[in-house]
Amino acid sequence: MMYYSTNGKAPEATLKKAVQNGLAEDRGLYMPRRIPQLPYSFFAGMADMDFQEISCAVADAFFGEDIPAEDLHRIVRETLSFDCPTYQIEENIWVLELFHGPTLAFKDVGARFMARLLAYFSDGSPVNVLVATSGDTGSAVANGFLGVEGVRVFVLYPKGKVSPIQECQFTTLGQNITALEIDGCFDDCQALVKNAFMDTELRARMTLTSANSINVARFLPQSFYYFNSCASLRRAGVSEPPVICVPSGNFGNICAALFAAEMGLPVRRFIAANNSNSVFYDFLQTGVYTPRPSIQTLANAMDVGDPSNFARIWELYGRNADNIRQRISGAVVDDKTIERTIQQCLEDTGYLLDPHGACGYRALKDGLKPGEKGIFCETAHPAKFKEKVEAITWQDVDVPERLAEFMKGTKQSVALSRNYSDFRDFLVSSI
Ligand SMILES: *Cc1c(COP(=O)(O)O)cnc(C)c1O
Repeated sequence: MMYYSTNGKAPEATLKKAVQNGLAEDRGLYMPRRIPQLPYSFFAGMADMDFQEISCAVADAFFGEDIPAEDLHRIVRETLSFDCPTYQIEENIWVLELFHGPTLAFKDVGARFMARLLAYFSDGSPVNVLVATSGDTGSAVANGFLGVEGVRVFVLYPKGKVSPIQECQFTTLGQNITALEIDGCFDDCQALVKNAFMDTELRARMTLTSANSINVARFLPQSFYYFNSCASLRRAGVSEPPVICVPSGNFGNICAALFAAEMGLPVRRFIAANNSNSVFYDFLQTGVYTPRPSIQTLANAMDVGDPSNFARIWELYGRNADNIRQRISGAVVDDKTIERTIQQCLEDTGYLLDPHGACGYRALKDGLKPGEKGIFCETAHPAKFKEKVEAITWQDVDVPERLAEFMKGTKQSVALSRNYSDFRDFLVSSI
């Protein structure tokens, strides 16, 4: 399979190149040349397959030309070392729980798959992954790449600006993970990473890769759990295609769901749930895409003012706003509504939402039409936002064992200034 750039000014890339580059040379996002269709027999038998079997079949369709089945299936099975179960929580509403991975958020799936794909394509010399984080991405990437041979990860995070739980998740790991505590803000971290990528002299000395969420190896495998979730509904006797509602920030997760549908998965329609960062919602109203600076909300992993995967959605639907509107509707859930939704859902159903899942639940509940059934994604475990959720519900939130484990580790990080020359010297000394 070849991958082209949404900006149309870069050469097409092989899967290997697309994964190693992340972004195309013209700053566009890679798109597969064609979207493979799964055969009717697959959908007919899907309800009798388990998560890993379904995922292997989906992976074969996308990556089978480029990776022998034996290796690909090993990568899929190692990626999915945990479940992504679907439960019914009220009459027409199911929750797809994506927080059973090592860092308790859905980004684990993409990060684990990408790490293994990079290792598979590595030709001997170590690959160095640079990732700037304001919290969650760093932990998913660090844990996803932990112990993967031939890959080293440098996590840059702003000193004093990530939560203690988040900090533990990438500073206590050791092995091939190095945490760099930057005396600056998130933008400084991102600027350091960008400078490194533009430093041709440095890149001649060491292979640098970004683990940004726009990487095809991070977003495509997320489609696995949408197939499995629809199979779960089938197993529960639901025969009509569900509505799928995804709490969205950079729109990578919903993009994977859209790709699943294009591969043939029967989905009635999609709802993109936003917090108060409503750029996509506004686009649906006006047909004009206008990025804006992001604003802080309770669902902070969705505080994105210029969702990078919009370019993929635009491309997928023929660069036409009406085509997009036919498949996807939008919703905006502000902080007050997030709070009320967490309280109301807990009272009515006994299910405890996190602030991101609350956006999804609210948008689905308000958006379902009579006769429709729907699935929303719970993208993180409520314990990741323990203080916030406890303040909203007046109840203790249990911290799962694997999250508590991180808190016991010893913090190891390298303190650096925000000057590029210090960062560069450090990278060079680590070769
Ligand atoms: C990253 C994240 C999101 C947003 O996902 P996108 O793919 O960027 O749209 C939603 N919820 C949580 C908990 C996240 O970490």
